[in-house]
Amino acid sequence: MHFTGTVWRPPYEAWSALVQVTEGCTHNKCKFCTLYNDVPRFRVSPIVEIEEDLRELYTAAPDVTRIFLVGANPFALSVERLKEIANISKQYLQRLDSVGCFARVTDVSSKSVGELKDLRALGFNRITIGVETADNTALEFMSKGYSADDIITECGKLDAANMEYNFFYLTGISGSGNGLAGAEKSAEVFNKLNPKIVGASMLTIFPDSDLYGEILSGNWREESETEKLLEMKKLIEKLEIRTHFAALGASNMFNLHGELPCEKEELTKQIDEILNRLSESELRSYRANLTHL
Ligand code: SF4
Repeated sequence: MHFTGTVWRPPYEAWSALVQVTEGCTHNKCKFCTLYNDVPRFRVSPIVEIEEDLRELYTAAPDVTRIFLVGANPFALSVERLKEIANISKQYLQRLDSVGCFARVTDVSSKSVGELKDLRALGFNRITIGVETADNTALEFMSKGYSADDIITECGKLDAANMEYNFFYLTGISGSGNGLAGAEKSAEVFNKLNPKIVGASMLTIFPDSDLYGEILSGNWREESETEKLLEMKKLIEKLEIRTHFAALGASNMFNLHGELPCEKEELTKQIDEILNRLSESELRSYRANLTHL
């Protein structure tokens, strides 16, 4: 299989077969992000390369029903290219019924509702969007390249096209003193949309990130681990939509997941228990020892 650099996929895609169709990120400017530092540039995989991988995949696992396209944001590809990938994949994997991938909010901008419906008909569904937050100050500072209004507009198009999507929320992105307000602003926006999963990761700052430089320059301060947990609790409290909340993966010092709104109380109680049991320094030692996400 053609895999370049570290392969990232959401925890809930563990049972999907991975097929690389792009390398790296078209944006590559978010200050906190080091995920694709080992990929020299954004690259679109040639179809011949994708076909080689599909052939190999068919040999190893012919009954695959879902594939997850690898790359930071394969949804940036043109509608025609995405259609071609879905059609070729179906030729090799006859039981394939859905295709997922990571997407940026801006990847949806260039696609009409009609085009999104066409992609949905070809299997594109449950795409994962790293919205991170709907706090405009944080979005701008971190150079995310879109606003809270863009999240509403573009994800509203996905709703109109009946294409399901999941969100990644980045706990801690608003910076020290702003976490609770960031969570409230985000919940306000998420409540207007229909993410099937709201996945929360906690911000871990690595020395090779631009954000590390901003901290050294005194332009930004990291939230304490306690503050991050309270921010996550606030997000859960303020979410009013039916969604699955999931704090999974290495950036979280614990795994937490459940259905909202029915398990809201249970989820917030678990966070309270962690806060009562562990001191800031104990929580911090987890983060300090995290060398890789
Ligand atoms: S956070 Fe996502 S969009 Fe931003 S640079 Fe990293 S991979 Fe690209």
